[in-house]
Amino acid sequence: MAGENKKITISVIKADIGSLAGHHKVHPDTMAAAARVLAEGKRKGLIIDFYVTHVGDDLQLIMTHRKGVDHPDIHGLAWDAFKKATEVAKDLGLYAAGQDLLSDAFSGNIRGMGPGVAEMEFTERKSDPIVVFMADKTEPGAFNLPIFRIFADPFNTAGLVIDPRLHEGFKFEIMDVYEGKIVTLNAPEELYDILALIGTTGRYVIKRVYRKSDDEIAAVVSTERLNLIAGRYVGKDDPVAIVRAQSGFPAVGEILEPFAFPHLVAGWMRGSHYGPLMPVSMRDAKCTRFDGPPRVVALGFQITKGRLIGPADLFDDPAFDEPRRLAQLITDYMRRHGPFMPHRLGPEEMEYTTLPEVLEKLKNRFKQVEQPAKKEPSTIVTKEAE
Ligand SMILES: [Mg+2]
Repeated sequence: MAGENKKITISVIKADIGSLAGHHKVHPDTMAAAARVLAEGKRKGLIIDFYVTHVGDDLQLIMTHRKGVDHPDIHGLAWDAFKKATEVAKDLGLYAAGQDLLSDAFSGNIRGMGPGVAEMEFTERKSDPIVVFMADKTEPGAFNLPIFRIFADPFNTAGLVIDPRLHEGFKFEIMDVYEGKIVTLNAPEELYDILALIGTTGRYVIKRVYRKSDDEIAAVVSTERLNLIAGRYVGKDDPVAIVRAQSGFPAVGEILEPFAFPHLVAGWMRGSHYGPLMPVSMRDAKCTRFDGPPRVVALGFQITKGRLIGPADLFDDPAFDEPRRLAQLITDYMRRHGPFMPHRLGPEEMEYTTLPEVLEKLKNRFKQVEQPAKKEPSTIVTKEAE
């Protein structure tokens, strides 16, 4: 068959185009509308295969094709699917219908228009497993800790120590989402430099990971930050990620392992609170308590001649019951802080929420009683504590 040797591209494109009962979950009719558009794209030969799903209020389009990343036809197809789904959402009066579509007209690339995008292109192996992570009520930096542990922490990934194909390590492409700049750092040589950046999860986000020995793509994360694009609060930028597994990459079990620790992530209620990232099955991929807690699903696929074989619902397993229970305990503990930090986000993150409008009202009530401090403390670029 023509084109069989050409590289395959996996595109995961997501958007919140409106949901059922507040920010709880995507309505099945909107998924059906999106699936019809993608089925037509498949019939025309634009895409090879697709899978439409949701996590919480985010509609997820998983597609395979041979057109490479950032292709206008593929992005256009996803845009059409979101538009059709939005029409249904508006007809049903779903909450925040069309929320993530920041523009009316498609301009060739869906990046910067609201939806989140994770895409990678590679030569298909004889047997090619991938894991697609999709999270709701959090931000792209939520994947920093698990992606770091998968590709750089030998206490997580045994293969880094004992598998010669992983032993050389991986390269991390890290994005400063405020400045729009990228830096590439090597693990294990520059571990501490990597951590110095990615510990600031709201600013420095792991965008891609490459295998160092041959520059082969290993992982990609959506890094869109909707609030920074829109300049106002328009919901959290619930992220997606694609991670390649086995035969020269970490095993599926090594890829899932970091999620056994429900680490604190920014997002949750009104995109303004820290809470535990709870790994859940598709059945529980919907947010309730305080619009959360933030959750993540993992779908496993085999890519076979471009077809998406699967998915396997990887967190649908009692092995993740204890992390889920721990996440509930953390949820209780964090919730008891109410509107106080560190449950509520810090001031630099709150700038992109609705809080500044409230603070504006109080501005003229302040009276100067002492000399102001010489310099406002910077919480974004952290210097040594003084
Ligand atoms: Mg969402």
